[in-house]
Amino acid sequence: MTSQNFDAVVIGAGFSGMYMLKSLRDTLGLKVRVYEAGETVGGTWYWNRYPGARCDSDSYIYCFTFDKQLLREWEWSERYPEQPEILRYLEYVAKRHDLKRDIQFNTRVTGGQFDETSNLWTVRTDKGDEVTARHLIAAVGSLSDTNMPQFKGLEKFKGQWYHTSRFPHTGVDFTGKRVGVVGTGATAVQAIPEIAQQAKQLVVFQRTANYCVPARNGKVAPEVVKARKADYAGVVKRIRESFFGQEHYFIPKSVLEVTPEEREREFDRMWDAGGFAFWLANYQDMFFSQQANDVCADYIKRKIRNTVKDPAVAERLIPKGHAYGTKRQPLDTNYYETFNKDNVLLVDAKTDGGIEEISESGIRAGGKEYPLDIIVFATGFDAMTGPLKALKLRGRGGRTLDQQWKDGPRSYLGISVAGFPNFFTITGPQSPSVLSNMPVSIEQHVEWISDCIDTMRKTGKTSIEAIPKAQDQWVAHVNEVVNATLMTGANSWYMGANIAGKPRAFLPYLGPEGVGGYRRKCDEVAAKGYEGFELA
Ligand SMILES: Cc1cc2nc3c(=O)[nH]c(=O)nc-3n(C[C@H](O)[C@H](O)[C@H](O)COP(=O)(O)OP(=O)(O)OC[C@H]3O[C@@H](n4cnc5c(N)ncnc54)[C@H](O)[C@@H]3O)c2cc1C
Repeated sequence: MTSQNFDAVVIGAGFSGMYMLKSLRDTLGLKVRVYEAGETVGGTWYWNRYPGARCDSDSYIYCFTFDKQLLREWEWSERYPEQPEILRYLEYVAKRHDLKRDIQFNTRVTGGQFDETSNLWTVRTDKGDEVTARHLIAAVGSLSDTNMPQFKGLEKFKGQWYHTSRFPHTGVDFTGKRVGVVGTGATAVQAIPEIAQQAKQLVVFQRTANYCVPARNGKVAPEVVKARKADYAGVVKRIRESFFGQEHYFIPKSVLEVTPEEREREFDRMWDAGGFAFWLANYQDMFFSQQANDVCADYIKRKIRNTVKDPAVAERLIPKGHAYGTKRQPLDTNYYETFNKDNVLLVDAKTDGGIEEISESGIRAGGKEYPLDIIVFATGFDAMTGPLKALKLRGRGGRTLDQQWKDGPRSYLGISVAGFPNFFTITGPQSPSVLSNMPVSIEQHVEWISDCIDTMRKTGKTSIEAIPKAQDQWVAHVNEVVNATLMTGANSWYMGANIAGKPRAFLPYLGPEGVGGYRRKCDEVAAKGYEGFELA
């Protein structure tokens, strides 16, 4: 049992916790302790080791930008590096900045209590630590709380089963096996083509079909790499000011106003470019008008029909019931082509019947038994609020986040929660977070929090807390903006709809001027003496 006092405790050692530590310790000179449940740094890239795991953001922007020399020196092997390469990068950053000496690994934070007299947090861990800190920073990630639905009968299954976010570090050999993959979200879309290459038979259990667009991974041309490195200051400025933290910009026209020839040309251009272009650089009314959205969606539907040879399978892979772009965009490499393989079978909940139970020997769906040796659950996460609630924090008056958020998250700027003084959330709910290229949003939050703590120390303040009225206004603004879009119509994890019993609420913040506008808003709040916060 350790009992110590720190200036700050940071929970999590992924991108967020690593940079938060660097900033508070090396820039402000504070005494910091980081707790991390995993055995090393990396967060997402430590845990998610399924076949095909890689980032979907272009590698030249999926990295830290605070270390200018590293930005110039680091060479990514391809457009979207695989998990081991990203983990190697984060390990390298940890070494370069000597971060590990202040991180306690294999340690999960299990509780925290704010003391209203001393304005200090007491933090507890599963290893018996009980430490105090003035500032408590959750760097717990938006997608770190594994969602494992309670399938009836799972305990009876005699084969092996894995969740994609808790894959064995030694890997899994699918050769000659009958494999079932449950789920068809972004992770499954990466994993399915890889598993299909090894397995004797692959059965994909689909609840909701997704619109997938091609990733177009590969080596980046050396002259492109060189040009980007030469203009990194420009790249960083542009992504910070952009809508999604990427170099993607909407076409400032309505898709309904252009000729069919012009839009087909534009669609082809985006499709051929690959990556998030079709999602985030499409016609500006795609997210607002169902009619405009239908035109964009129709293009992808045609692509699916042209790729999948069996028309009945193609129809089942075509999404129904949600607008294009309202769910996380999966990027695919041979996803639709995989369903042309003889060893791959699609079981669609709507046409074939959903999963009823797991038996000793496989999965039973729609009254039929599918014998399996291995089941892979690609069922995602209790996104954004899950890992924060799991901290079991008690703020003012002993209130918990569970109580505060029973009808959905309520935060001020996605950084702070009324009733939880001196507690900050990096990429918390109601900030752009998962709707952006996350390192951009992470760096913005880390720098804002660090500046805030620095100001508090210089002005002798021991407590900062969001004012409930400012929080109410922020929550109303977040909802007003998203309610003008098609996003709220989908049963997406953005809406909390993937988790039974989770209140239906839009979790991130969408605009209206994207991450650039959001950054300006946060800076303005700070410039006005932390408007909307009470400093004591
Ligand atoms: C498969 C996958 C692909 C992704 N691809 C992209 C992409 O292409 N582009 C993009 O922008 N984003 C992507 N993301 C999102 C990704 O999570 C972020 O980009 C980024 O890695 C988040 O970093 P983080 O440090 O905030 O959180 P994480 O990397 O999730 O790290 C949080 C850490 O906190 C630890 N933790 C949580 N709770 C506790 C606790 N109670 N006690 C101790 N430790 C705790 C966890 O163990 C974890 O290591 C992807 C996510 C996944 C799952």
